[in-house]
Amino acid sequence: MKLYKEVLENLNAGVLVVDQNLSIVFVNRWFKKALKMSPTDILDRSFIELFPETNDSRLHFAIADALVNHLSSLLSPSLNHRPFPLYKGQHKVEPIEQLIRILPIPFDETQICCMIEITDVSNMVKREKALSNLTKRFSNLALTDELTNIANRRQFNITLDKEIHLATRDKKPLSLIFLDIDFFKSYNDSLGHLAGDNCLITVVNTLLQRIRRGSDQISRYGGDEFCIILPDTNIQTAVDTAESLRAIIYALDMPHPKNEIASCVTITIGAACWDEFNNESASSFILRADSTLYRAKQSGRNSVLGHYNDTWITPSPIT
Ligand code: GH3
Ligand code: MG
Repeated sequence: MKLYKEVLENLNAGVLVVDQNLSIVFVNRWFKKALKMSPTDILDRSFIELFPETNDSRLHFAIADALVNHLSSLLSPSLNHRPFPLYKGQHKVEPIEQLIRILPIPFDETQICCMIEITDVSNMVKREKALSNLTKRFSNLALTDELTNIANRRQFNITLDKEIHLATRDKKPLSLIFLDIDFFKSYNDSLGHLAGDNCLITVVNTLLQRIRRGSDQISRYGGDEFCIILPDTNIQTAVDTAESLRAIIYALDMPHPKNEIASCVTITIGAACWDEFNNESASSFILRADSTLYRAKQSGRNSVLGHYNDTWITPSPIT
């Protein structure tokens, strides 16, 4: 018996034993040190009185379960956030993350105690947190365009599928804009690739200032082509929004010496509204918006065209 007590005293984990009345009958060295209390402050005291924060907590119920039903439990640190107010060192700065095991210890038919064992899992929790932050960072990187810092095509595909699902469920219109910089290859050829990169960034930042609705998502589809998903937006509103985007880029008046239709950077835009009657697929919707952009390019560039229900739609006249 003396040996067992020695083992418990010197364990590199906290051990606390309560009797049937939740009175503390044993506390080992590790726990006393972590509590920064003397044995006289702990022994024979009511567990709930000493740790009022555990009253009606999962830990409290687990102890009751051990004493009444002889059941043991394991409380993970992720679901049971630091049940005991334990800290490392002298100052209460670095909290101890805790993994807690509750064990019933029946002596005979009538007497039972409950052992609470606390393992310091601070390093494990720290490692898990770092790993989860890293995973978040990598998944963010996988869905973001490196140059412009907006969503990439992978993220666009995910969002479009989600928005089609929501539009179907809520019976709301959904529009999609495809926009492309005019004669961008010549821009690179005349001013250099670095200037081209800066032009792409400026165009995106300008578009972002204009797209103020939180639900609208702009993505880089590839090269100098971008798309914007506009939930709860009909085709005329989408075309008028596109026209305001075209105008805002034109108003930037960024010199483009090789633009065949203007002296500055211009964009051409195609917009389509999702065809709810035919339950249109995402790929067919993308193709229709992209083909509308192609048609707008053919008809002269620096322009906007929309498509819905077999009809071509142009911007509303300025009043
Ligand atoms: P159009 O008016 O028909 O759209 O003509 P365009 O020259 O813009 O079309 P094209 O698709 O032939 O050229 C797109 C160019 O975009 C070609 C490529 O060099 C350039 N590009 C693609 N990605 C990048 C990039 O990340 N940075 C830069 N600077 N240029 C890029
Ligand atoms: Mg282009």
